[in-house]
Amino acid sequence: MRVLIVEDEPQLREQLRAGLVEAGYAVDEADNGRDAHHLGTSGAFDAVVLDLGLPVIDGLTVLKRWRDAGHLMPVMILTARDNWSEKVAGIDAGADDDLTKPFHMEELLARLRGLIRRASGLASPVLVCGALTLDTRSGRVSLGGQTIALTSHEYKVLDYLMHRPGAVVSRTELTEHIYSQDFDRDSNTIEVFVGRLRKKLPPELIETVRGLGYRLVAP
Ligand code: CA
Repeated sequence: MRVLIVEDEPQLREQLRAGLVEAGYAVDEADNGRDAHHLGTSGAFDAVVLDLGLPVIDGLTVLKRWRDAGHLMPVMILTARDNWSEKVAGIDAGADDDLTKPFHMEELLARLRGLIRRASGLASPVLVCGALTLDTRSGRVSLGGQTIALTSHEYKVLDYLMHRPGAVVSRTELTEHIYSQDFDRDSNTIEVFVGRLRKKLPPELIETVRGLGYRLVAP
C-alpha cells in the first residue's frame, strides 16, 4: 500500500514518514500544496495524509481540486487543535477522516488501516482467503493457523492482492502500489515476489491471468 504524506513541517513530516515506512507502507512526500496536487493526481495512492495549512496552495483547495477531478483515494486531514470549523470545511471538501495535532502514531496508523480497508469494501482488519489470513494490524500472515514468514516485499504484494480479492491486478498496478516514486522500479521483480509467495503458500492461490496480471482466488 502506498501513502502520500503532505506536511510542510519537516520534523512532523519525517516522523510520519518513518512511522509509515516502519508499518510497511511505500511513502511519497510533499511539503507544499502544488507538489501535493500534482502527486495526488497520479492515482496510485491508497491513502493520503493531508495537512491543511500548507504553503503555495492550501490543503483545502488541493482536496477540492482532487475531488472535482474525480480522484477518490481516501484522504485523512490533519487539523490544528481547537479548530472545529476547519474540520467541518475539510470533511465537506471530501476528507474521509480527520486527526487533530498532536496525535499518536498508533492512532494515525489504525485510522489509515480503516480507510484503506473501507476503500476496498472490506469490513474486518483480518483479511481472509480460504485458509490464508492476513492481520493488517500485526502484519501476521498465517495458513491454517501456522504463521508464514514473509519478506517485506512479499508481504506488500500479498497485502495488496488480499485487499482486492477476485480482481485481476496487473504487474504495473502492483509496482505502483508497493514502491514509492523514488524507488528504482522494475515490474519484473513483481514476478519474482509472486514466485516466492507461491512457494510459501498453496501455489494455486495466486492465479496468473495471461497478459493481464494476477488474481487471488480462494480454493
Ligand atoms: Ca502546516
